[in-house]
Amino acid sequence: HAKRSGRRQVQVFTPALDDQRRDRFAVEAALRRALTGHEFTLHYQPQLRGARLESVEALLRWTSPTLGPVTPGRFIPVAEQCGLILPLGRWVRERACEQAAAWHHQGRPLRVAVNVSPLEFAQPDFVPHVHHLLERLDLPAHLLELEVTEGVLVQDLTGTATKLRALRALGVRISVDDFGVQHASLSALMALPADVLKLDRSFLSGHDGLGGVHAAGPQVLRAVHTLGRELNLDVLAEGVETPEQHALLRDLGFEYMQGFLFAPAMPADELDAWRAVRGSVSEPAQPTLLLE
Ligand code: C2E
Ligand code: MG
Ligand code: MG
Ligand code: MG
Repeated sequence: HAKRSGRRQVQVFTPALDDQRRDRFAVEAALRRALTGHEFTLHYQPQLRGARLESVEALLRWTSPTLGPVTPGRFIPVAEQCGLILPLGRWVRERACEQAAAWHHQGRPLRVAVNVSPLEFAQPDFVPHVHHLLERLDLPAHLLELEVTEGVLVQDLTGTATKLRALRALGVRISVDDFGVQHASLSALMALPADVLKLDRSFLSGHDGLGGVHAAGPQVLRAVHTLGRELNLDVLAEGVETPEQHALLRDLGFEYMQGFLFAPAMPADELDAWRAVRGSVSEPAQPTLLLE
């Protein structure tokens, strides 16, 4: 639509578009090389239930020798567009499950949540691959959670539901990530066989105690929480950064939280240290509220 919007705007926006294309091109070229090298690592961010460590989310980290550190927000969309997300996603899944299996076999099991792109999820061999991975690593399925976004719905609702049901039949947990920011209809979302609803962190802006401007009031947070509970879903708030947000969410009944207030994503060995300190200090101090 840029070319229809007049000469002045074309002049204003064309350089920015060129920059974007150049960046995509550079990122794509570097990504192709990165897959054959050892430039990726997985970090793990704690997800809490009350004061307890419930699970971790695996988050991809990439430092390119040519581009330096590149954020997922910059390279995941490129990888999705050029199909590199398939080998990359497979790598993530395998490393995350290996880590979960290592923790399990060391006697300190911890569920790992793995992000899955719509394109990965659409592959016919996705469910069999997950199944074989669990078997090969001797990993109990309940220690794996797969995070899908509303994007998987847009393509093929029936196929998506069938696959999610197959995964849940294996014992894998399913969460709907970034809930509320994409365009899936509520009825489609409600038809999804899932276990967890992850409220996108944009819902929290304005509740930071700093006088934010976002329109979503506490009523919206409460409504989403109620909806999730009605659908028998665990509801997790992501992006909790301040004690004010934490207090508000707690008062609204949110049990599950994730955010910089508690911990950022970190390498597995740092997480081990974090668990060692935290496990002995804060767990008995603040008993978890059990709703069941
Ligand atoms: P996401 O799945 O919603 O992951 C949560 C993102 O929020 C992570 O960003 C995390 O570092 C960030 N975050 C957590 N707590 C806070 C907080 O308190 N404040 C703020 N401002 N941010 C917080 P990250 O690691 O940059 O990843 C961004 C997105 O990239 C992810 O969003 C996910 O959609 C995608 N992504 C990351 N790793 C993977 C992966 O292995 N596979 C796929 N397909 N996507 C990935
Ligand atoms: Mg996620
Ligand atoms: Mg998320
Ligand atoms: Mg998000």
